[in-house]
Amino acid sequence: MLKNILIVGGGSAGWITANLLNHFIQRFELPCQITLVESPDIPTIGVGEATVPSIRRTMSLIGIAEGDLMASSEATFKCLIRFENWNDGQSYDHPFDRRHRTQTDPLAEAWTAQNGKDFDRTFSVLTNLADHNIAPKSPQTPQYLANFPYAYHLDAIKMALRLAEFGRSKGILHKRANITEANVSPEGLIESVETDQGETLSADLFVDCTGFRSVLMGGALGVGVKDYSKYLLCDRAVTMRVPYEVHKPERIVTYTRSIARDHGWQWDINLHTRRGLGYVYSSQFLSDDEAEASLRKFEGPHTDGLSAGRLKFASIQRKQAWKGNCVAIGLSAGFLEPLESSGLYMIEFAAQMLGNTLIDYINAPAAAQRNFNRNMDDLYEEVMGFINLHYVTSTRRDTEFWRAATSQEAIWDGLQDKLEIWRNRSPIDYDFHGSQRLFALDSFEFVLHGMKWVNPPPRGNYALPDHSELLAQCRQKLPTHEQFLELLIRSASQAR
Ligand SMILES: Cc1cc2nc3c(=O)[nH]c(=O)nc-3n(C[C@H](O)[C@H](O)[C@H](O)COP(=O)(O)OP(=O)(O)OC[C@H]3O[C@@H](n4cnc5c(N)ncnc54)[C@H](O)[C@@H]3O)c2cc1C
Repeated sequence: MLKNILIVGGGSAGWITANLLNHFIQRFELPCQITLVESPDIPTIGVGEATVPSIRRTMSLIGIAEGDLMASSEATFKCLIRFENWNDGQSYDHPFDRRHRTQTDPLAEAWTAQNGKDFDRTFSVLTNLADHNIAPKSPQTPQYLANFPYAYHLDAIKMALRLAEFGRSKGILHKRANITEANVSPEGLIESVETDQGETLSADLFVDCTGFRSVLMGGALGVGVKDYSKYLLCDRAVTMRVPYEVHKPERIVTYTRSIARDHGWQWDINLHTRRGLGYVYSSQFLSDDEAEASLRKFEGPHTDGLSAGRLKFASIQRKQAWKGNCVAIGLSAGFLEPLESSGLYMIEFAAQMLGNTLIDYINAPAAAQRNFNRNMDDLYEEVMGFINLHYVTSTRRDTEFWRAATSQEAIWDGLQDKLEIWRNRSPIDYDFHGSQRLFALDSFEFVLHGMKWVNPPPRGNYALPDHSELLAQCRQKLPTHEQFLELLIRSASQAR
């Protein structure tokens, strides 16, 4: 029977998981109580500001209104990532819309760096809308639905706080205490956990959302990790919040900037009242002080009075995300890299898979567990390969970091053959497997062509798709990003 689920940890992973499981319990009519316990002393990691479009489905399943979510977490729209300097002096977009699939397959398959055209602008409308700062939907478009695919930039701490309130109102029990010990049976099942408040909490299923500490999965159950640091060299980030009172950008843009730097890359994200910046770098080549100084210099003198945060991370994956009656979700299950904003997505994926699997867990627990672990392995490989692609296709060799990041040894084994093939032709559908992939043909096309990796002699004489009519309509009918946000805040404060 599954009567009690205990989630340990109240960061983004804990609260997204708690709310999603609550949704599935109701959907499957399971008489099950969810409790979330979080430390009152250990802060959440507090980064995770960029999302991918799956977040809309996740929040819609949870049942929170879109206006509420956006207003409470200072969210703005994210329609693409703009990559700058990943090849010296060049820039390209990875947008969420890939238009005219199938009609334009011959054109895309014949694409070559030698044609001198921009793949992103040819196959996406969002790239153009982003230049004019047009919102991807109108205020009349129903919540979570889109005129164009979009995700959010948001304050992850505020999002988790709002989801906590929302979850409590839907019956999730919430406790604040430190877990000091887990009682594990000789068969390797967690029977209960002890808190520093003198309570013993037992459950049928435990979900470890304790972040990098991995208190249950890594600690109590001793599950080790796979290490991907050979392929992903960055292991540190220095972060900063720049409030608009200190420095206001000309526009609140609908894209994440990802700027390649000498020893890694830097994100620049526009929220509603501030920007979030972070320099992700490799500690092999840059000290923490040097990284902070470099971030400040790059941003300018207005950073003088602002504090910076410093984070260490490792590109690792727990060898099992589910063991016995314990599932690890979020950073406790592993982390790869902030590039391409996959952290929250992996939480959404794992929590939805777990929710969908609750019935299997009752009927066939061992099979459910193996299936879950296989799917998580596939997900990690997918994300790992895609992030690795950004580095190894670069022509930069100007620093020790870039020479190491683009070396033959840094190319992930699963990419080696494909990269050789893709030198001479565009990627095609058959290069990718799996129905649930986030990063498949569309994403690989934008990055490979953005990086000008695919370089055969030109062939064919295909007409380019014409977006001018659609763009004209969008400019007429859709609000600017700022106009949309203003309306949103006004209606959120009226609703309060
Ligand atoms: C530099 C960096 C940038 C990132 N950028 C992005 C991004 O742009 N987009 C994205 O999607 N993801 C991003 N991520 C990933 C994202 O931050 C995480 O996936 C997300 O925040 C989930 O964190 P978490 O809830 O697993 O852990 P945490 O936020 O660390 O939460 C852990 C929780 O466990 C609790 N806890 C710990 N020990 C105990 C204990 N003994 N007893 C009780 N409670 C305990 C803590 O109090 C806390 O509540 C980034 C990560 C890093 C490192």
